[in-house]
Amino acid sequence: MTHPLLDLPPLTAARFAGIERRVAALLDTEQDVVITQGEALLPLEGCIRGGARPGSAALNVVTGPYGKTFGDWLRDAGAEVTDLAVPFHGAVTAEQVERALAEHPEIDFVSLVHAEAATGNTNPVAEIGEVVRAHGALFMLDAVASVAAEPLLPDAWGVDLCVIGAQKAMGGPAGVSAVSVSARAWERMAANPAAPRRSYLSLLDWKERWIDTGRAALPHAPAQLEMLALEACLERIDADGLDAVIARHRAAATATREGALALGGGLEPYVYEARDAAPVATTLRVPAGTDATALVARALALDPSVPLVAGGGALAKEMVRVNHYGPDADPAVVARSLAALGTALSE
Ligand SMILES: *Cc1c(COP(=O)(O)O)cnc(C)c1O
Repeated sequence: MTHPLLDLPPLTAARFAGIERRVAALLDTEQDVVITQGEALLPLEGCIRGGARPGSAALNVVTGPYGKTFGDWLRDAGAEVTDLAVPFHGAVTAEQVERALAEHPEIDFVSLVHAEAATGNTNPVAEIGEVVRAHGALFMLDAVASVAAEPLLPDAWGVDLCVIGAQKAMGGPAGVSAVSVSARAWERMAANPAAPRRSYLSLLDWKERWIDTGRAALPHAPAQLEMLALEACLERIDADGLDAVIARHRAAATATREGALALGGGLEPYVYEARDAAPVATTLRVPAGTDATALVARALALDPSVPLVAGGGALAKEMVRVNHYGPDADPAVVARSLAALGTALSE
């Protein structure tokens, strides 16, 4: 008997290219889209190692844990790195980025995380893109936690390298990811002798062996099941309508923020201003004397179905994350999450 996951016909080049076109449509981009065959950290590292080199100067905006990782990769690639760190309870402003660029005119690469699921904030990319473009630097955006949760327009915003993953608001698989690459970014990578080649991290390999040869033959066997899951999740987003998916996430975030305050147990939004709060996930600060990890464990014991996790690393004691993304961007899930937290708090 044939098995639905095992006995599949090979994924054709034409179907692979069709999935790329669907991703390009989702991002409303004319840029080349590469579907990278691994979790989103793969294209993120590929962008940094292709775009930065010894002698590069990078501005790395840190609004959460991913920014720290990007800074490490940039330094490892030999770049001179200026970190612009802002408190995790807010967003970076275009003025702060503009000031940092004015202080360091040599900066030729800017890395930014759009929304941070880990800290619950989101940054004003459209305005930041304007000042980065005026300065002339290459602009890399980690949009893994923003795609399908809030508007994301790499072309309109002047993003040169826009990385997405399907595992958050898209409600799709984690094992493949994608990056849109501007003509400027391709030129930068092609001129970089240190850019990865014949390597899993190489975006240039995909350009030379796949895009420039007319997408006729795949350079190696794709992650077939993950590609099919990505196609299915793109079809589902199309059927629901991207605007409706975004609205669902926005509504879940608002309901969580307001509901947590209404609980009255001392939970507070971790991100001070609602406009800086990411639609993908809501972070909450627990009352003094409460341990967030223990609180989440009690809430999950009451209702194992709710998407609650404690903050990572240093935030494990003070932060609760409500991961209301993908299928969990749903008022019923938010209500159950708050109910479980409320009961756990009163215990
Ligand atoms: C989730 C996420 C990623 C991908 O990381 P995983 O922990 O492997 O899911 C990358 N960047 C950001 C901003 C994310 O929120």
